Amino acid sequence: MLIVAADVVRVEGRLRAGELACPSCGAVLAPWEHGRPREVRGDLWARFFVRPRRSRCSSCQVRHVLLPEAIWQRRADAAEVIETGLEIAALGMRHCWVAAHLGLAEGTVRGWIRRFTSRAEDVRRYFTVALVALADDPVMPDSSGTPLADAVSAVVAAHRAATMKWSHMNTVSRWEFAGRAITGCILSCSLPAS
Ligand SMILES: [Zn+2]
Repeated sequence: MLIVAADVVRVEGRLRAGELACPSCGAVLAPWEHGRPREVRGDLWARFFVRPRRSRCSSCQVRHVLLPEAIWQRRADAAEVIETGLEIAALGMRHCWVAAHLGLAEGTVRGWIRRFTSRAEDVRRYFTVALVALADDPVMPDSSGTPLADAVSAVVAAHRAATMKWSHMNTVSRWEFAGRAITGCILSCSLPAS
């Protein structure tokens, strides 16, 4: 799997031009069919369909789905909806209040929060290392009292350091930044080595 920009036309152009690299070996990815259409729940009860592009490596032959950063692996809700839920939960809101705010089922939101909390220490550690690498004079976020809030704080701090280092990162939201950095593994799959 490779996280790509949400601009489908631009991604298709880059794929056909041989500008996308295999995450496994670094060789050129070539077009390879499309995935099945998926319905995704967006903000304010919006619904949209995505049909992820597939690709195959010209060297190791491994196939990779090109997942737009607007959606996360195996999630029915758009990334921006889940991000909002995690940030509200980091403020100390119970899952039922978060679900009410987003207009979603409590079980759905409870599932995100449990999943994120179970890997929160890995996320916190990964983005703390990123903060140290990106910032000239890194300031560690204060402990927030919960693993979930500490992980969210680490993402926010690393993103802020990235925007100070590279001005173009100001156009990339903190969770797009996080998704790209850990190849979409915010709620699933193993985080890459930091
Ligand atoms: Zn490869």
